[in-house]
Amino acid sequence: SYPAHPDLDALTALDRDHLIHPVAPWRKHEQRGVTMLESGQGAWLRDAAGHELLDAFAGLWCVNVGYGRESVVRAAAEQMRKLPYATGYFHFGSEPAIRLAAKLVEISPPSLTRVYLTLGGSEAIDAAIRLITQYYNNTGRPAKKHFIALERGYHGSSSMGAGLTALPVFHRGFDMPLPNQHTIPSPYAYRGEHRDDQALIDASVSALRAKVEALGPERVAAFFCEPIQGSGGVIVPPKGWLKAMREAARSLDILFVVDEVITGFGRTGPMFACDAEDVDPDLMTLAKGLTAGYAPMGALLMSEQVYAGIADGAPAGAPIGHGATYSAHPVSAAIALEVLRLYEDGSEADGGGLLAHGRRVAPHFAAALDGLRDHPLVGDVRHRGLLGAIELVSDKATKRGFDASLGLSDRLFDSGYRNGLVFRSFGDHILGFAPALCFTADEFTLFERRLRKTLDEVL
Ligand code: PLP
Repeated sequence: SYPAHPDLDALTALDRDHLIHPVAPWRKHEQRGVTMLESGQGAWLRDAAGHELLDAFAGLWCVNVGYGRESVVRAAAEQMRKLPYATGYFHFGSEPAIRLAAKLVEISPPSLTRVYLTLGGSEAIDAAIRLITQYYNNTGRPAKKHFIALERGYHGSSSMGAGLTALPVFHRGFDMPLPNQHTIPSPYAYRGEHRDDQALIDASVSALRAKVEALGPERVAAFFCEPIQGSGGVIVPPKGWLKAMREAARSLDILFVVDEVITGFGRTGPMFACDAEDVDPDLMTLAKGLTAGYAPMGALLMSEQVYAGIADGAPAGAPIGHGATYSAHPVSAAIALEVLRLYEDGSEADGGGLLAHGRRVAPHFAAALDGLRDHPLVGDVRHRGLLGAIELVSDKATKRGFDASLGLSDRLFDSGYRNGLVFRSFGDHILGFAPALCFTADEFTLFERRLRKTLDEVL
């Protein structure tokens, strides 16, 4: 450990009195106090209290290239010096934003040809909903206004996207979901009816068909899904599920929107989860790994058909009224271009790019999690690539969870912190992991040791 920040107490008091920490229970946070992070290098964080922490969650599943990447800092500084801001509104533009759009089209599924650069994932989802509405209005099918997503899905917290997010805390007190937002069951093998892969896929396809039939196909606009549900507890569907849902959406004449905010940029192995199954969505949302957390940015990619429907259906010469001051921000775009370079063709030390490195070390991650299957608290282990979770139970046979009064997630967080490990908990019983793609085999050994110790301490 290191010396604590000299102003830690004063800063903790200022944080308590002024800074809102969204999603944390606000009053509870005031009592608990902030864990102020100070610096990072590779997979490691240092906090202001003097602790060194192995970050097994890459910030908020976003710092895929690890902390302290000098080449990213240089790209940002150079762009800021040259031109810190160029509006993407109207007809201005900047070189990094143009190059980034072209690069995203090059590396994403072939169906996607047009790119709207946003401030993050929530805004990309919100733009998708608004622009799909515009698409159907402009192409003469104004009744197609109902949206379907998965239970346990997370699609951000914008005022429309939070309705497609099907996690109760994002609805409670917000009058959500909206009347035109609907869900079908999540492909959750551990707690669902179907454990067999094909049965699970068939059940999801049938549920989508049944929901579209019930609403009337002429009224349904789109189906949104994450290829692996992240904040819902890292629900990993069987291989073939994404493709089957894509085909179902096509046959039902609804748009297929894949939310790769977490799964994009090597998180599950390939550049995008869609690549593993040759899925060609109508729209795709991206964020997080796009800039690896070095600056805010997201993206909405769309097919030529959707783009043309919007562009050609609007009254000639009329603006399309959706955009923001920071759309296509040149500094974020310059950062994203450098981050994409690190994924694909990093230095020798990175072994030919971080995507390749991530794929090489993923078996160590899988082994670390699988090694915990015998732990008395572990009911289920799920992973693909560098995305994973363990689901804790008080009784493996009945899969019973834990009484909320035990405060298990707080105890796990505190114990993890004492053991120098950062992860995330979902509810009281699912621990999620999304290590940076630069993790080493030795760091995974340490990860397993610290995680086991953390579980032992709360037994
Ligand atoms: N979609 C998914 C799948 C996410 O996991 C998230 C954020 O965690 C979002 C959308 C929203 O992205 P942002 O937090 O950048 O607004």
